[in-house]
Formats: sequence, C-alpha cells, structure tokens
Amino acid sequence: MSAMRVTLDAEACVGHGRCYALAPDIFSANDQGHCVIKTDDGLIPVGSEDRAHQAVANCPEGALRLEE
Ligand code: SF4
Repeated sequence: MSAMRVTLDAEACVGHGRCYALAPDIFSANDQGHCVIKTDDGLIPVGSEDRAHQAVANCPEGALRLEE
C-alpha cells in the first residue's frame, strides 16, 4: 500500500458511478449505486495511484478527496 488515501463525502455522492467505473479496484457501489470505498482506511494500492487521481478528478460532485 502507498501512503495515499482517499476519503468520501457520502452526503455529496449522488451515484454517477464514475469512480467505480474508472477505478474498480478502489471503489464499488452500494444498492443505491452510491460509492463505497473498498480498501482498508481508503488506502490506495501501489500501482493504482493514477486511477485514484482520475476517479477523484472525474467525480462531478467533488465527493472524493485524496490525501498524500
Ligand atoms: S463519481 Fe462521485 S458522485 Fe459518482 S458515485 Fe463516485 S463518489 Fe459518488
């Protein structure tokens, strides 16, 4: 695991699904199609950093944040 982690503002997420389409190793969907972070503590697996950045940049609601 890298030291990068992602956080989700579940109130802001409306379920566009771009995050789990772009980075299915990090995000998945709940029954409502809203984002669920799959990894422990939101840690980004080594090698998935670019996908994490893409997913965060493409969330139309700004519901995702990366901390490095
Ligand atoms: S892209 Fe953003 S709004 Fe859409 S499911 Fe992911 S976190 Fe939620």
